[in-house]
Amino acid sequence: MRLPHVSMTDGVDVAVVGIPFDTGTSFRPGARFGPMAIRNVSSLLRPFHPHHGLDVFEQLSVIDYGDAGVIPGNIDRTYAAVGDTFGRLAGAGVTCVGLGGDHSVTLAELRALADRFGPLALLQFDAHGDTWDEYFGERYSHGTTFRRAAEEGLLRTTSSIQIGMRGSLYHADDLRAGEELGFQVITCDELRALGPQAFAQAVSERVGEWPTFVSFDVDFVDPAYAPGTGTPEVGGVTSGEAVTFLRALGGVNIVGSDCVEVAAAYDSPGEPTALLAANVVWEMLALIAVYRRLTNAPSVQA
Ligand code: MN
Ligand code: MN
Repeated sequence: MRLPHVSMTDGVDVAVVGIPFDTGTSFRPGARFGPMAIRNVSSLLRPFHPHHGLDVFEQLSVIDYGDAGVIPGNIDRTYAAVGDTFGRLAGAGVTCVGLGGDHSVTLAELRALADRFGPLALLQFDAHGDTWDEYFGERYSHGTTFRRAAEEGLLRTTSSIQIGMRGSLYHADDLRAGEELGFQVITCDELRALGPQAFAQAVSERVGEWPTFVSFDVDFVDPAYAPGTGTPEVGGVTSGEAVTFLRALGGVNIVGSDCVEVAAAYDSPGEPTALLAANVVWEMLALIAVYRRLTNAPSVQA
């Protein structure tokens, strides 16, 4: 978004942080190149948001904080490094927006933010629940993130929703596996039937004013629109519909967010997946600005 790369946090409202890590991937690798691809196409984005009627970067001081110091091949040390970065930023009062990386990285973000805010509400846009107990015998992978987060007490699952589940399954009850952990599950078919307004109402009832983390896995969107991802599932919404559902979240108290699973090597000419991800992040920044406008919370720079 042509934002300055800044390594200090004085006067900063929001920091975008790359997490170029894909050791937690089960199928197509390559999400480590997500942050680079998202940053590259994000140079197209402009500051004014016509739907919300605000200039995102006039409302918020946003910086690119660079990448967290990931360790390819070692998920534990990567979690520690991501936790350090997010903990430092959150401790300085800066809202963090992560650029994945595969979905395993979200656990480290949630650990750091729950440490500051307590258990968070979660809005997870994803074709998959990512609530396996283990995958290939591993407890930490991009398929186990939200079970671990629930077990570790990082989430207020009774205020959380998983949105967009679909695709072929291993077992009949896999689609709604998150419910056993306390999450509400809105499958992709249910989301379509709801439409943006009823979806906004469902979110408002479930989440309320609770500090919320929004995690957007680009495989939430149909692979016709977002082919550059690790575990594509047909039958998703379009990128336009995804943006409309995000715009329905005005009023949610977003204290952290990420956009994950952009595996740029499988993207099509024109880079639609990276472009989607850059726009998702921009929508997220706009939602943060909308909430501050609603609550008259001063931005740091004011
Ligand atoms: Mn995921
Ligand atoms: Mn997914």
